Amino acid sequence: MTAPWSLLVVSTPVGTLGSGAGGGVELTLESLVAGLLGRGHQLTVLAAEGSRLSSSCQAARLWTAAGVDQPSWQHQLRDAPVQIPAAGLLPAIWQQVHARQGQFDAVLNLAYDWLPFWLTPLLRTPLFHLVSMGSVATVMDEVIEAVALSDLRRLAFHSRAQASDFRLPAPPLVVGNGFDLSAYSFRERPDPEPLLGWAGRIAPEKGLEDAAAVAASLGERLLVWGVREDPTYAAAVEASVPSGTIEWRGFLPTSALQAELGRCRLLLNTPKWNEAFGNVVVEAMACGVPVVAYARGGPGELIVPGVTGVLVPPDDVAALTLAARGAAGLERSACRRWVERHASREAFAERIETWIQEGLRPA
Ligand code: UDP
Repeated sequence: MTAPWSLLVVSTPVGTLGSGAGGGVELTLESLVAGLLGRGHQLTVLAAEGSRLSSSCQAARLWTAAGVDQPSWQHQLRDAPVQIPAAGLLPAIWQQVHARQGQFDAVLNLAYDWLPFWLTPLLRTPLFHLVSMGSVATVMDEVIEAVALSDLRRLAFHSRAQASDFRLPAPPLVVGNGFDLSAYSFRERPDPEPLLGWAGRIAPEKGLEDAAAVAASLGERLLVWGVREDPTYAAAVEASVPSGTIEWRGFLPTSALQAELGRCRLLLNTPKWNEAFGNVVVEAMACGVPVVAYARGGPGELIVPGVTGVLVPPDDVAALTLAARGAAGLERSACRRWVERHASREAFAERIETWIQEGLRPA
């Protein structure tokens, strides 16, 4: 099928677009939609009622569905069954997809949920999935692996480390992610402030406690941005370090986030899980901020050690502290350059287009 296409992009059933509750998927969706619009496609986004699309996506049509949020998979036990709450948002979304699929050349799902993967062979319109997390539950592994077995071309992953969680019949497509470079301002700062940054959903799988421990040992302030998904956990992290170590900055829109992030001398990234990608790592680098991270998941593939940051063995807080202390020689311009070369929105949209093009060919 020749481009341009009419595409339906389906968002997460966790929170509205713009709220931050959907984590990195929100920015990924924005980037993907804006990038594909730029390549001449017609885009419709289906998301939770109350969602907003950013100015870069205004040419896309927004459809919404109402219902109760899905519980996030990353906070379930590994052998948990599939749960759908009464009056759930997830079935409301997929009922609309089913009813209106005939208007589209393809449907692109960004939600990490059992129902859309399971529906793959049942929809008349080809359904593609950009998988947003690694393995977190057996029933999710099963349904993702079933799609892979029937047609691996329907799946794309953000990083090799993420994809390696799943038993796949052949090497999968890894598309990385893409960022609107013009949204992140880069400045050389010969003398950056002695400030450390940390950004992400404030939840145990993100390991904020390790970054706080580093800041406490170095006697530097740690600025923290993100949705306080687990307030009990946030309070425990705050109590684990001297008062004033953490400065909670809240969840900020990209324009405000990048302005604050750019002031930091380093971003600390401390995933306790197999992080699928790590948007915040690339966002920091786009502002010229090097990243000290655990060599785990996506960040292990995004950071060039000694050039754009430092990678240390996972969960080794002493190594993280040592790296954060000694990371003064990294060039801010090298960080920005890496993002321009590897993670632009334009290049990402091209990779997504090629993926769909291949997937629409007869098997
Ligand atoms: N984020 C934001 N404002 C904030 C803090 C975070 O917009 O104040 C966004 C950030 O841009 C990123 C997302 O939150 O896109 C976090 O995504 P990431 O891939 O790092 O982790 P996830 O939440 O998907 O596990």
